[in-house]
Amino acid sequence: MLVTTKEIMDRAYRDHYAVVSPSIDGPECLWMSIRAAEEMKSPVILGMRHGVFAKEELRTFVNFAQTLAEQASVPVSINWDHSPTMDIAFEGFYAGVSSVMLDYSLKPFEENVAGVAELCEKVHRAGVSVEAELGHLGVDTPLEGTDKGIFAVSDCIYTDPKEAAEFVKRTGVDCLAVSIGNKHGIYADDIIPHINFEVLEALNKACGIPLVMHGGSGTGDENLHKAGTMGVCKINVGSDLRKEAADAVINCTDRAKQRTRGFFLMHDGYKECVKHQMEVFGCAGKAW
Ligand SMILES: [Zn+2]
Repeated sequence: MLVTTKEIMDRAYRDHYAVVSPSIDGPECLWMSIRAAEEMKSPVILGMRHGVFAKEELRTFVNFAQTLAEQASVPVSINWDHSPTMDIAFEGFYAGVSSVMLDYSLKPFEENVAGVAELCEKVHRAGVSVEAELGHLGVDTPLEGTDKGIFAVSDCIYTDPKEAAEFVKRTGVDCLAVSIGNKHGIYADDIIPHINFEVLEALNKACGIPLVMHGGSGTGDENLHKAGTMGVCKINVGSDLRKEAADAVINCTDRAKQRTRGFFLMHDGYKECVKHQMEVFGCAGKAW
């Protein structure tokens, strides 16, 4: 069933688990994410974003996602991820998504507040919720005095709990993406990043709303599970899904199957990875 992102997030926040938001790189990803959710009896937040679907075809794909969601036996919502501008945020809104992220994390604090407050005011009345980002996911820097290979993101770009509390209060935002040592993409040499749970704990206390973790790929099952118990209610994952989908074809030793069933192998690779994340994040079995 198609539900609002707020409904999914509020339950996750109350019951201390995180919901997977798989990166939707094409229509098959909509289909496989929902199948994974059904098999795991889990809610799911589909992560669509600009740049994947052309502006003129977006409505068609959102309609497709809505139809699949309506037919699903589990709660599904559609998030419009990482809008870099207000215009792009509204492209998603008018196409019919359930929630919109406005990413002004690289802009000055006041500009971020003003933009997100404006978006909240405009879309809340339509039942659409808003995600913002404060602090930003940075470049890896080696953590001094530790073994080579252990990396951390420097403290200066962590989300500041005081700022976050003020941001939440002034904008009316529904959920906040935070920077706690996570980053987008794949980590070199399968390094597990250092997640700063002290900062997360402070953010959770300061904000009082669901938090979001971007860049869930390669972050380590233990870290992700723990984050889900500490106020993180949505974890965005892309790279791991792409990798598992590709590996399913690359590692297939049956040459005939590899050539004739490639798409199906990719579907399975993607779906099994979403299912694994549902188990890890704690949202498996939480469908209603
Ligand atoms: Zn992201």
